[in-house]
Amino acid sequence: MEKERAIQIDLCSSRKEKPRDDELEFGKTFADHMFVMDYSEAQGWHDARIVPYEPLTMEPSSMVFHYGQSVFEGMKAYLTPEGDAQLFRPERNFKRMNHSNDRLCIPPIDEAFALKALKQLVSLEKEWIPKAMGTSLYIRPFIISTEPFLGVAPSRYYKFMIILSPVGAYYEEGINPIKIAVENDYVRTVKGGTGEAKTGGNYAASLKAQEAAEEGIAQVLWLDGMEKKYIEEVGSMNVFFKIDGKVVTPALNGSILEGVTRDSVIELLKHWEIPVDERKLSIDELYQAHQEGKLEEAFGAGTAAVISPIGQLVWSGHHLDINQGETGAIAKQLYNTLTGIQYGEIIDPFGWIVPIEETDSSSLKATV
Ligand SMILES: *Cc1c(COP(=O)(O)O)cnc(C)c1O
Repeated sequence: MEKERAIQIDLCSSRKEKPRDDELEFGKTFADHMFVMDYSEAQGWHDARIVPYEPLTMEPSSMVFHYGQSVFEGMKAYLTPEGDAQLFRPERNFKRMNHSNDRLCIPPIDEAFALKALKQLVSLEKEWIPKAMGTSLYIRPFIISTEPFLGVAPSRYYKFMIILSPVGAYYEEGINPIKIAVENDYVRTVKGGTGEAKTGGNYAASLKAQEAAEEGIAQVLWLDGMEKKYIEEVGSMNVFFKIDGKVVTPALNGSILEGVTRDSVIELLKHWEIPVDERKLSIDELYQAHQEGKLEEAFGAGTAAVISPIGQLVWSGHHLDINQGETGAIAKQLYNTLTGIQYGEIIDPFGWIVPIEETDSSSLKATV
């Protein structure tokens, strides 16, 4: 783990043309450079480098293609009104990556070093952060197992990479409530499984439910894999409900992914002295609360959408309208505050913002 101190730089000879801010699509274009670091048992994590974004050459027998031993993260870089680049709680993402690594038997990364590498990369690619309101530079760190071997065992070789993709505003026409359906058949994961880890297999397992959902359903509401009774997440977001004046979110239980947005929402609610409960919440209780007129708001929380209000919930033939299909006051306040902090428009009293300094890449420019 200790040989990766210096980051080698190999700059591309010509820069790609950047898409216009109004034609950005999620995850389709990538910045000129990427970060790469390799792992072998003998050398640990080594050979940290920033190189041109380009295809990988891998053996077809590379373990990741067969047994899915991989993890990923997702976060964003934002541009402030002053034109400075900044990150939102990135240390949490690298900490979670190590948590995922542990579950997938992948050797841990040095979190502080990964953050340093990310800052250098973003500083170098600052021009790739789009400027229009609500746009950002999506950051995708990931690790894949690369050993050419078909045996079932933890790989002895890995690649850790970070790629960057400029993304458009999630809500182009203003924040918009979605329709979701409770998933009664398929489960995303199960306690003891990999639900707490950010790993591709969970996403592969989730596709079928979305495909099976009726027209107009934006996301499915996942229930626990054991009893199919307790609410876990919505799509690939954590989920919150306001019931009778109190905000409730499912307690972390071993199968729920611990979102950075989820944690930030809980901290903000506490800061505002709005009661918030992390506990088990059954679909029956939620239905009951709706029948009694006590289900006041529902929303998902995750990096991509930040806050995604839920306007209607479909469950076993019942169509439950929530807050007349409108965005609730708490969802709105959370959205405005979180995005305000992320884009440097309001003061961050929590120490969540990590600025990117020009000097983060000056040391590296000096070496080329
Ligand atoms: C990434 C993810 C989330 C949201 O996490 P954030 O850190 O808030 O982006 C929630 N649920 C699942 C299953 C996820 O993969």
